[in-house]
Amino acid sequence: MENMNPIENARLQLKSACELGDIDKNVYEILKNPQRVIEVSIPVKMDNGDVKVFTGYRSCHNTAVGPGKGGVRFHPNVTMDEVKALSMWMSFKCGVMNLPYGGGKGGIKVDPSELSQRELEELSRGYIRAIYKYLGDDIDIPAPDVNTNGKVMGWMLDEYIKLTGHHRPGTFTGKPIVLGGSKGRTEATGLGVTYITRNICHKLGLKLSDTSVLLQGFGNVGSYTFKFLAEMGFKVIGLLEWDKEIGEYALYNKNGISYEKLSKFKEENNSLVDFDGASRISAEEFWSLRADILIPAALENSVNEEIAEKLDIKVIVEGANGPVTSAADEILKNRSITVVPDILANSGGVTVSYYEWVQNRYGFYWNEAEVFNKLEPSMNEAFENIWAIKEEKNLTFRQATYVYSLIRISEAMNYRGWF
Ligand code: GLU
Repeated sequence: MENMNPIENARLQLKSACELGDIDKNVYEILKNPQRVIEVSIPVKMDNGDVKVFTGYRSCHNTAVGPGKGGVRFHPNVTMDEVKALSMWMSFKCGVMNLPYGGGKGGIKVDPSELSQRELEELSRGYIRAIYKYLGDDIDIPAPDVNTNGKVMGWMLDEYIKLTGHHRPGTFTGKPIVLGGSKGRTEATGLGVTYITRNICHKLGLKLSDTSVLLQGFGNVGSYTFKFLAEMGFKVIGLLEWDKEIGEYALYNKNGISYEKLSKFKEENNSLVDFDGASRISAEEFWSLRADILIPAALENSVNEEIAEKLDIKVIVEGANGPVTSAADEILKNRSITVVPDILANSGGVTVSYYEWVQNRYGFYWNEAEVFNKLEPSMNEAFENIWAIKEEKNLTFRQATYVYSLIRISEAMNYRGWF
């Protein structure tokens, strides 16, 4: 049986980076577990009068470079191990982009679609009441992740300010603009995925207008990735989505699915199941489609061994966190399919979170062009630096990215005297 435990997957990646980068063995010992993991029970008075108790977590992986940083997700499959793994990936992601943070991640085990807005607000506030002593703009800084957004950040910030009496908006990022959010933060992850997709196409000699893309997921990351890919001239020919009633399904149009039509349809129907600008195919058929690039932008472990064997693509750009299992990664390597890892590909989100935090601390706000004019060159620079390591040391893209990031984290720990 393939190992699907994300923390073990993350540890394997860490171990291999330590070996390949010839990094002190103590670094693995320090980084294989988070510095702090909190588990809390959050009672919520439901609309029907009953009290329901939810389980929440927050993991702060490493603070050698700076405070913990990373999102909070609401999902029924959240576990402590998942949150631990995601916080480790955040340490690496911040390292890749040279951000002054370590990694953090939180989550609540809940299906938010089953809660009313009032219940969801109570849950968000209850989570902050349970963990606020371990949060702060110089301690650990949450942001949106799967099924959370600016609205949730607004409730969390409000609860935090009420508890502490201090107006410290930089304690949360991904906030609504009026509460100190940054212009461009909502789009940033998808935009960054698109920059990286373009860069890898240039390296591999693929002409953007001739490049076909398969996309999994149409949430925050997937939908903006789709939008910017379309603007850059890529053709998204397949989209895999999930629906509460029918489960996984996909849309396919060999001439490219129109983003305009798709987003309008989603807005009007709140679902893409009956979208008429493409034919409906099964998930199984989706994974066998011939295309140049696959962008999984949903959850962990969506590309497993079986799928890795049948993919008919040249490149994977990881929009989600941890979408490719370690076993699948090995198969893709043997099949010479390039995998651009999550910690680089989706780092646009946390990078603009950093800009938001800087603006909050500075109390001076930038326009959207300023944000994007900083984001693009800094993602390009990380991409080029990593590409150079990959070529020089003959590593996979993932290996080179981990080595690149790990050097910085281990240097910080070393200067601090941790080993
Ligand atoms: N949840 C996002 C991620 O996984 C963003 C984190 C942040 O902005 O802090 O990268």
